[in-house]
Amino acid sequence: RLAASLSQHLASSARLGGDSAAPRTPHFDVVVIGGGHAGTEAAAAAARCGSRTLLLTHRVDTIGQMSCNPSFGGIGKGHLMREVDALDGLCSRICDQSGVHYKVLNRRKGPAVWGLRAQIDRKLYKQNMQKEILNTPRLTVQEGAVEDLVLTEAEPEHTGKCRVSGVVLVDGSTVFAESVILTTGTFLRGMVVIGLETHPAGRMGDQPSIGLAQTLEKLGFVAGRLKTGTPPRIAKDSINFSILNKHTPDNPSTPFSFVSETVWIKPEDQLPCYLTHTNPGVDKVVLENLHLNSHVKETTRGPRYCPSIESKVLRFPNRAHQVWLEPEGMDSDLIYPQGLSVTLPAELQEKMITCIRGLERAKMIHPGYGVQYDYLDPRQITPSLETRQVQRLFFAGQINGTTGYEEAAAQGVIAGINASLRVSRKPPFIVSRTEGYIGVLIDDLTTLGTNEPYRMFTSRVEFRLSLRPDNADARLTFRGYKEAGCVSQQRHEKASQMKSSLEEAISVLKSITFSGFKWKTLIPQASISTNKSLPLRALDVLKYEDVDMETLARAVPEPLKKYTTCRELAERLKIEATYESVLFYQLQEINEVQRDEALELPQDLDYLTIRDVSLSDEVREKLQFSRPQTIGAASRIPGVTPAAIVNLLRFVKTSQ
Ligand code: FAD
Repeated sequence: RLAASLSQHLASSARLGGDSAAPRTPHFDVVVIGGGHAGTEAAAAAARCGSRTLLLTHRVDTIGQMSCNPSFGGIGKGHLMREVDALDGLCSRICDQSGVHYKVLNRRKGPAVWGLRAQIDRKLYKQNMQKEILNTPRLTVQEGAVEDLVLTEAEPEHTGKCRVSGVVLVDGSTVFAESVILTTGTFLRGMVVIGLETHPAGRMGDQPSIGLAQTLEKLGFVAGRLKTGTPPRIAKDSINFSILNKHTPDNPSTPFSFVSETVWIKPEDQLPCYLTHTNPGVDKVVLENLHLNSHVKETTRGPRYCPSIESKVLRFPNRAHQVWLEPEGMDSDLIYPQGLSVTLPAELQEKMITCIRGLERAKMIHPGYGVQYDYLDPRQITPSLETRQVQRLFFAGQINGTTGYEEAAAQGVIAGINASLRVSRKPPFIVSRTEGYIGVLIDDLTTLGTNEPYRMFTSRVEFRLSLRPDNADARLTFRGYKEAGCVSQQRHEKASQMKSSLEEAISVLKSITFSGFKWKTLIPQASISTNKSLPLRALDVLKYEDVDMETLARAVPEPLKKYTTCRELAERLKIEATYESVLFYQLQEINEVQRDEALELPQDLDYLTIRDVSLSDEVREKLQFSRPQTIGAASRIPGVTPAAIVNLLRFVKTSQ
């Protein structure tokens, strides 16, 4: 099938190339398919890296559309956004220009797991994203539905059965490309569901992508089916907010981007959110009407993360589930009831809503709905997000089985960088598990795969204390600048300045030492242990909960005062001090993991047939499918035993 498809595509490419009278077929370095959160980041990243890039998407007016929740960030997701930003990606800066309620979650826990989050004005986000994308140098945007891929013979030096050389649009026209990135979200054979009714759609109001799904199937990609859903939208003026729990934003607001001094809107002008809960009335509507619900059944309950209200009622009956009433935008009349994703018939959705406190007279403007779509097993891609089967073809976003704007954006930026590096024949840009949440996300997907929508959590990350939102620039900006060329000079300079200020201030804080008694007299309000007659560094004092750089600088104005003028620097010093001792041990662990990660497995190894290593058939099959890049990645594949890893390690060392 692959050979037939390949020769057919080769023939059509030859025809197009051979007709001198025909208009010249456009040729780009990188073509990105899809203008969602993965596609916009991928296209902008490839262009920043210097590639002539084309973004092909169904409709320009849906570029940057938030298909579901009007919010960005959260616990784990906020980390991803900071890392996308550190590589000069777009979503963090756009959120700083489009939010209506900024709040850092998890403040009661340590700063390593704080979750930057904001309610976003959908309209503003789309406008700002479109402005950014349409003004990106080297990036062309074109409307069109991609139906097929142009394939040519594989380059001899790479694995893969063939290589992609372009795309075919629904009108039959062709665009040639050196690399192609697919970011088609929920559109591959997408079906929208309300009650028992289903109809083909990528999301409500958009056509699904059928031709492309068939092409990928013909190429032998293993696909699966996933489900997700969205809640109904409610008229703002029909809600009785006066009896509900009001939640106000932070003051001051914390920007998402390292390069934003502040966000576009003052805290006092931001919009509140409100909290209400489900009750037995909601459970009753759900349980009595399961027979009218084809999306969620007792046996197939849908996604674990962002679950529907039906799944929650089935899994945890008789519980009051939270429903957050979130603004959709500054001048929007709609409220998004987060936690109430539902696929019951529309009239039953309205009945369910009016059971809830504060929503007794609520008017539903759009019903909630579910979407079912194809995703591709992400174990078929490498950590650079290039597919193993087809050279120069990259996948990013929901197509790889993830859910969420931030997960999509994170993959988008990496795919864009690597598609561009591939064109210039440079080594891939890989973020490891020890360097970033992006590394964890991609390593989990490419080594473990997923059979439910994958979402980022801090608990998935081994080195949480090092991979913090505050230090994403230190972890990724310099690499992005030097190895990928995706970071602007301006951002690089800002990151370099911050790095040298931090280093200088930390060494000064280490050099100022007094006894505990002396510190207690200098900062009497702080709970510094007075028993300590031993010398205590200013950096140790900064660890105390009730001490910050301001307090320290009041006690020792010279030389500390100058490190308090930049709020961000002062906050980062406090965080560095808090984690100093634990980080010492974590760094040792990171070095150990990095040693394993440095042991690369040959990419052309046929695990099914290699003789000189003792592996069970089951382990061989698992390794053959996942094709781990390193010994470290192999050890994380479920079912690959420690004994198998030892044997593999011996084999790699002897064959080096
Ligand atoms: P998308 O944002 O879906 O973008 C895909 C893009 O590809 C679109 O611009 C489309 O027009 C374009 N495209 C597709 N096929 C073609 C083609 N053949 N040719 C040209 N262009 C093409 N996330 C959560 O975190 N929580 C949720 O509860 C949640 N619920 C959701 C509910 C619904 C109904 C939907 C639709 C999505 C939901 N999501 C949810 C997912 C969230 O929207 C996605 O994770 C995110 O948008 C994925 O980004 P993406 O770039 O991969 O794809």
